[in-house]
Amino acid sequence: MTYHAPLADMSFALKYGASLLPAIEEGFFGDLTMDDVEAVLAEAGRVAAEVIAPLDRVGDQVGATFKDGVVTTAPGWKEAYRAWCEGGWNGLASPTEWGGQGLPQTVSAACTEMWNGASMAFGLGPLLTMGAIDALDAHGSEALKRAYLEKLVTGEWTGTMHLTEPQAGSDVGALRTRAARERDGTYRVTGQKIFITYGEHDLTENIIHFVLARLPDAPPGTRGISLFLVPKFLLNADGTPGTRNDVRAHSIEHKLGVHASPTCTMVFGDHGGATGFLIGQENAGMSAMFTMMNRARLAVGLQGVGIAERATQQAVSYARERKQGRAPGMPATESAPIIVHPDVKRMLMTMRALTQAARSICYATAMALDRAERGSDKTAREAAHARASLLTPLAKAFSSDIGIEVASLGVQVHGGMGFIEETGAAQFYRDARIAPIYEGTNGIQAIDLVTRKLPLAGGAAVESYLGELRSIVEAVNATNDPALGWSGLRLDEALGSLTRATRWMLAHLDKDVNEALAGATPYLRLFAVAAGGCLLAQQALAALRLNTDAGSRIALARFFAENIAVQAAALERTVVEGAAGVIGAEAVLAE
Ligand SMILES: Cc1cc2nc3c(=O)[nH]c(=O)nc-3n(C[C@H](O)[C@H](O)[C@H](O)COP(=O)(O)OP(=O)(O)OC[C@H]3O[C@@H](n4cnc5c(N)ncnc54)[C@H](O)[C@@H]3O)c2cc1C
Repeated sequence: MTYHAPLADMSFALKYGASLLPAIEEGFFGDLTMDDVEAVLAEAGRVAAEVIAPLDRVGDQVGATFKDGVVTTAPGWKEAYRAWCEGGWNGLASPTEWGGQGLPQTVSAACTEMWNGASMAFGLGPLLTMGAIDALDAHGSEALKRAYLEKLVTGEWTGTMHLTEPQAGSDVGALRTRAARERDGTYRVTGQKIFITYGEHDLTENIIHFVLARLPDAPPGTRGISLFLVPKFLLNADGTPGTRNDVRAHSIEHKLGVHASPTCTMVFGDHGGATGFLIGQENAGMSAMFTMMNRARLAVGLQGVGIAERATQQAVSYARERKQGRAPGMPATESAPIIVHPDVKRMLMTMRALTQAARSICYATAMALDRAERGSDKTAREAAHARASLLTPLAKAFSSDIGIEVASLGVQVHGGMGFIEETGAAQFYRDARIAPIYEGTNGIQAIDLVTRKLPLAGGAAVESYLGELRSIVEAVNATNDPALGWSGLRLDEALGSLTRATRWMLAHLDKDVNEALAGATPYLRLFAVAAGGCLLAQQALAALRLNTDAGSRIALARFFAENIAVQAAALERTVVEGAAGVIGAEAVLAE
């Protein structure tokens, strides 16, 4: 089980799929050069392959263990985490003011893909710390920032995210954890949270919990939720960890995958309540939490890309070695590596194409975040913010869905050996399964896309994106290169399906929202296959122009357009014609 960062593909997707190169050339990131970016990616690739990937197996087999309230991570985990932090990787895109490197989110996204490709269970911890840094930086008081940000940025302390309770999963507004005001301005937090990732561990001396709770006089639902910072150890006057706070891990879960990532039940208030510090305003916790979750949603999409990449690498390598059957014309005494069989090639190409399309969508989302953060004028920043908001559910849901599909194809390419744990293909499949569930299930992402993101700016945000995709298709058609096969036509059709389905969705949001909700998931997939196809075509055109790796990039874009983007037509039918069948399903489900 090895992992090699696909640096050439990543760099090409960044430069030409996410348009990082033109942004760098126009000085958008100051004096940052593409050489700098490539040096960072190369070093991250080395760390991912040499430090993290070798631990993935022991992490799966031994996992995190729990005894008497103490969580012990798998052998080697602590040393790897320390080495990773010492490399400055935790604060790659964090503000320089707090000790971060201030690099673009786009570059951080590529690195996040690598950490998670090397080991999803490892990548998951920092993913939450980075989200916590964003939330504290955007909404915290100066005093809280001064006390906690630097240590979170270096990774000396980790951050967690506490939303879920037994009765409050997707429905965050149902949470019951309570916070009571104290005279000194702090709060007493009492209650129980479940499924808290890295809620307790031995990697760092302090853990900073970001906890959603309800004040006694809070309005019901999400309008009555506040966000609190609850450290495992309260700080001494000199900022070092002091007294233990009233929060503990009660147990950890036994899970299908990501065994090395402890998933904890957390208890607040055995001794009267944990001391918490308000982040932002009372009852405005959801907006602070959304800052944290949005970045985390993109990162979960990148987990899908990372695991898909790793599963593909392993499947290609196995298919080159495993011999079965013959290629046409081969002597009966010989057998061929399975990679020569068209059906195996189809599986491997599907794996590569889905991975590269999801990568392109995620990187484009990260670029929109960079433009939203750093754009020179307000209008540009707002437009970029709307683009990032539109693309985030696509990045999260499509990429995490294909993570499973690709890992499953990886098992299939291995035949029976794929079902046997020793090859590692099964672990990718098990690990990948969580990503469509946490950080808002993919069903919730689809609802978010349809009900909140499509109506942004009166539909102008989605229209402007469709316009950009259309100009890519026009450029494909204008090249007339026979190597692109039917790509132009098929992408044109896919975009037509997406445009019609988008208008249908916007009309039905007012007319009959249940019909829109019934088609939300196929609509998200339709959006992703059309957008992914266009982004791959855009990279193929760049490769043609530059004459670098043009053959393979064109072949991949063509495969996607002719084999995957064509699904858009059927998905359009599912969206606009299939809703009645969903809504009328009661009779079947009542049986
Ligand atoms: C390994 C792991 C790690 C986790 N880490 C964290 C963490 O660090 N912090 C944290 O707070 N939580 C964490 N979670 C919890 C996770 O975020 C929730 O499991 C997830 O949000 C779904 O909630 P639920 O499990 O209650 O499912 P439910 O909300 O009960 O959903 C069940 C199904 O119903 C669907 N559904 C629910 N409501 C609707 C609706 N309104 N419309 C349409 N469909 C709907 C869902 O899409 C899903 O398919 C973790 C979970 C796991 C398993």
